[in-house]
Amino acid sequence: MAENVAEIAVTPSGTHCLTFRVDSRISPKNFFAQHHTSFRFGTHDALNLVKTAQDELGFTHYKYQQLYKGIKVEGSVLLLHARDGDVVRLNGRHIVGLNQDNLPSITKETALEFALSDFGAELYLWESKAWETEFQLRRNDPAATTFPKAETVFRVLPSTDATDPANYRLAYKFKIHSLTPFDAQAIYVDANTGNIFDRVALMQSAGGTVNTLYNGSQSIITEYRAATDDYILVDDSRGGGIHTREFATGFSAPGIEYVDEFGGNTWPFGRLRVGASAHWAAEMVYDFFSAAPYNWDGYDGVGSELNVFANVEPGSDTYWDAYLETINLSNGVGFQWGNFVSLDIVGHEYMHGIDDNSGPLDSGKNESNTLNESFADIFGTMVEFSIEGGGGDYYLGEDLYATTGRIRNMSNPPRYLSL
Ligand SMILES: [Zn+2]
Repeated sequence: MAENVAEIAVTPSGTHCLTFRVDSRISPKNFFAQHHTSFRFGTHDALNLVKTAQDELGFTHYKYQQLYKGIKVEGSVLLLHARDGDVVRLNGRHIVGLNQDNLPSITKETALEFALSDFGAELYLWESKAWETEFQLRRNDPAATTFPKAETVFRVLPSTDATDPANYRLAYKFKIHSLTPFDAQAIYVDANTGNIFDRVALMQSAGGTVNTLYNGSQSIITEYRAATDDYILVDDSRGGGIHTREFATGFSAPGIEYVDEFGGNTWPFGRLRVGASAHWAAEMVYDFFSAAPYNWDGYDGVGSELNVFANVEPGSDTYWDAYLETINLSNGVGFQWGNFVSLDIVGHEYMHGIDDNSGPLDSGKNESNTLNESFADIFGTMVEFSIEGGGGDYYLGEDLYATTGRIRNMSNPPRYLSL
């Protein structure tokens, strides 16, 4: 432990990833307060605990935001992971040696004028009564407004070394949403010079990554939500979109969002990882069917939004809901298996959706059902081969087992279950 912190002590600003012994006996409480100087924080630096989360493996995750002279340093976030009260891992980034004034030279009103002039839209959201009302309803706050508010931050100049404190500027950050054209951006105005030095799109799909449960690290498309500074599993780049949510809390409500407020779009653990694995599989399945030779856009051929629900509550099955047209993926708990988020399973359920929308095959009825299941099996398997190549096989659901089990063996189809 002492050596670890000593190591940090000689590490300049930058990215860290440190692993501690599981019996480190280092308490996450006051960790940074105790090791303030080891991290080379100065008297004006502080770490603010902004979020805490627990996962099902017994880990508690703490997210700390660096403040300098009481002002947020954007991008400087440290994540502390603890188990049984012991710190086991630390990752993230902090900046050492900031030496700047925290008092702006220009007012936020002046800065906003610069920002709006730079944005140059014809009409803004707050100029529309209908949109303001909509926003107030969504926030459940009759005083809410989309009129831009100034947030004071330290922000690194774009395309410069983020570990060099000289590259940071005191800035006013404005989130601006326009109606004509329909656009949203964060605009950074230098709080001393009035110079606009950075713009970040707020409506853009975001490229995330996930260490999937069964296929290693993969890229996914998610949606960044500027209002809450987090990510949800929405991919609007494919057909009518893919939206992955969770049913773990039961069917009484129409599913809850997976929100990566911790990992910066990396979906690092627990239920987030499960959801993002399902989301990736759904993206791959969409790509498989939308490409030649099928050229089939979405499960219904006309690119309707695909809704996927993962981590479905214990004991529930995995199935295509032909009424709501959703894919529901069991968490496998009642079956002693892993989460049903593998390529062949998601491909199987998606194929049921295609069957439903393209032919008179009933599920659960005699030969019609058998054909429906066999199409689902073989296409789910073809999706698996399309991604895994030589790693594919003719079993269904083999990924869900820790050892050698499977749901179906195509060389002996009646042997296992149906789903
Ligand atoms: Zn089936």
